[in-house]
Amino acid sequence: MIERDSNLANPALTNIIGKIEKAARLADRKPSDIALIAVSKTRNSDEIRPLLVAGHRLFGENRVQEAAAKWPGLKVEYPDIQLHMIGQLQSNKAAEAVALFDSIHSLDRPSLIKALAREMDRQDRHIPCFLQVNIGEESQKGGCDIKAIPDLLTLAGQSGIEIVGLMAVPPENTNPVPYFALLAKLARDHGLDRLSMGMSGDFETAIKLGATHVRVGTALFGPRATPAG
Ligand SMILES: *Cc1c(COP(=O)(O)O)cnc(C)c1O
Repeated sequence: MIERDSNLANPALTNIIGKIEKAARLADRKPSDIALIAVSKTRNSDEIRPLLVAGHRLFGENRVQEAAAKWPGLKVEYPDIQLHMIGQLQSNKAAEAVALFDSIHSLDRPSLIKALAREMDRQDRHIPCFLQVNIGEESQKGGCDIKAIPDLLTLAGQSGIEIVGLMAVPPENTNPVPYFALLAKLARDHGLDRLSMGMSGDFETAIKLGATHVRVGTALFGPRATPAG
């Protein structure tokens, strides 16, 4: 999964990869089945470049405009960069999002699914997506209601969008285990293979419960100066 050049190692990256490998082994899983998304929101190119130099290629952003300003330049240097959209997405940004990202984790409502489907057809660029679930049933939080999953999966299928898995952010400051376990069960129930769950504070727990995509920001880059989504 993760390319490495030990001469150009990045200590934080090496540390997180080691922890992912250990968590995978403890769960009797293959480390190569777990993708590390380096969440680079709020980080500039100079902060991102050391990870690229160390061989890392998979990154996550939560704002279309910020990503559009930062990544096209880096993609010239590193054409094999993979960018995942992990933040809430407005339908009027669908065109830019489809052009820029290689996967979108935040599909959570019919209007967004329809807007993305139109753009994927128009740009002839069909990217795999995740359905985001509001797993803690919190108001003000992105993600669909658990009971909306079947209809959204049907709509995505009819619209020609490939949904490969479920994504969630559990409520803050609570034990994430029941939420990760529930998301894993919902994915199984719907025959979806991939699970985007786990952040800096809980990615090892998420791996134990089946995460295939962990989204790690601060543990790789250090604390963010300003809170961002
Ligand atoms: C910021 C963010 C992350 C990364 O959070 P860290 O705690 O910095 O690892 C993961 N997922 C989403 C959706 C985010 O917005």
